[in-house]
Amino acid sequence: MSLHFRFWALAFALSLSIAFRAAAQEQQQPPAFPAIPIDAKEEQVRQAVALVRAGQKLTPKAWPNGARVAVCLTFDVDNELLWRNTPLPVPLSQGEYGATTGLPRVLDLLDRQQVPASFYIPAMSAALHPQMIQDIVRRNRHEIGVHGWMHENLPSVGDAAKEEQLLTQSIDYLTRAVGKRPVGFRAPSWAFSQYTLDQIRKAGFLYDSSFMAMDEPYELMANGQKTGMIELPINWIADDYPYYEPQASGSLPDPDLVYQIYKAEFDAAYQERTLFILTMHPHITGHRSRIAQLDKLVTYMKSQPGVWFATLEQVADYVKQTHAGN
Ligand SMILES: [Zn+2]
Repeated sequence: MSLHFRFWALAFALSLSIAFRAAAQEQQQPPAFPAIPIDAKEEQVRQAVALVRAGQKLTPKAWPNGARVAVCLTFDVDNELLWRNTPLPVPLSQGEYGATTGLPRVLDLLDRQQVPASFYIPAMSAALHPQMIQDIVRRNRHEIGVHGWMHENLPSVGDAAKEEQLLTQSIDYLTRAVGKRPVGFRAPSWAFSQYTLDQIRKAGFLYDSSFMAMDEPYELMANGQKTGMIELPINWIADDYPYYEPQASGSLPDPDLVYQIYKAEFDAAYQERTLFILTMHPHITGHRSRIAQLDKLVTYMKSQPGVWFATLEQVADYVKQTHAGN
């Protein structure tokens, strides 16, 4: 056996043992969200779903000026960070499109239609294109909320202190860049860890917009306790990603069909006198054929009497006022 071979054999054995030990350590840590076994007792099932639940409905008896429905256009400005795990030049350029072309088109549309919107921007997305925040802020009509530091998946951070540090950094970054402390939180990829709700309460957020338990504003409950946190819920139906992203399972390339879905969602919200929140991404909806459909949708919604276009901050403020003391 040559000395060389023995050295490599030893190095290989050593690296194997390190890999095994790392894997064993990983296994020792119970997963934060273990599966619910099929023979779990009712109490165990209750506990497993209790972390964040829907509390009381918070839709006010009437919206401002007697409006029938509140409509919120929201944009998650993720851009390049969606490819953080595989930052190859061409996919990154798909995200870059959001800053160079998508966002300017969105802002032009909102100017023309004279409607407000809420933008959720990961701090590092803003850092790559500082112009974005300036362009949004100078319109004096829109809201900017927190959407993570690096568009991190919060359940994968796996460490309360680290997660809180990223949250604090994100708030500080946006506060400096916008000149106002953000009041709205939308979790990156709509993913909460077991720590997130506590941390956003502690940070003093007015509302969250990451959950899907209702179609109207409601209060978040944590392990059976009221939290006072207003939830302005989202869902995958009123989101551009599943329809337009080539890899998405519901891929529906015809923008007119997407318009029909959004319109039906709005019409029902109008009948129910509640809330319609649309979630979009500048790098997705900002494309030519798609922004035209958004324009058509806004024109249609504006043609109906009693539609209140608002930021989520305005909706949350109003909900809070009308439920004060309840
Ligand atoms: Zn996002």
